[in-house]
Amino acid sequence: GQDPRLAKIASSIRVIPDFPKPGIMFQDITTLLLNPEAFKDTIDLFVERYREQNISVVAGVEARGFIFGPPIALAIGAKFVPMRNPQITGEVISEEYSLEYGTDTMEMHVGAVQPGDRALIVDDLIATGGTLCAAIKLIERVGAEVVECACAIELPELKGRDRLGDKPLFVLVSSD
Ligand code: AMP
Repeated sequence: GQDPRLAKIASSIRVIPDFPKPGIMFQDITTLLLNPEAFKDTIDLFVERYREQNISVVAGVEARGFIFGPPIALAIGAKFVPMRNPQITGEVISEEYSLEYGTDTMEMHVGAVQPGDRALIVDDLIATGGTLCAAIKLIERVGAEVVECACAIELPELKGRDRLGDKPLFVLVSSD
């Protein structure tokens, strides 16, 4: 059977219909953060999966990958690297990616991820997969390996998983 922690995690995510636009079911993880037991279970489930996998870097995607990524990185003894929309100082490499309307850019500090690093990419949610694809490209461009992508939530109808190709994706809950 399914891990009993998953039902509690799923029920502590608030769904906001028609936000930020009509037709979008926004999955709000701030209510999960208000439930210390469910938040801890979320982190623990990721840590249990990754602690024996020689992950050397956890790459957290702006903005909610900055919430889930650091506690996972600390627990498994990996460095944490933020993957940001343009605003970081210093030398960066960047990838443009498409959104529903228009494009955005993701940036990572040069030197933060090194050739031979084994990376776990963390975000709160995968929808179309465009965001995670940009993160994968940045990490592979510097000669590191993406071991897996991990999200709390998947929206399976949007088939983001297919867009990741052969890159493994691990999620805790699916929302239809
Ligand atoms: P995508 O690139 O389409 O996979 O979109 C994933 C990114 O957009 C993640 O960083 C999510 O935080 C955010 N996102 C997309 N759709 C939603 C949604 N329905 N609820 C919450 N966040 C979303």
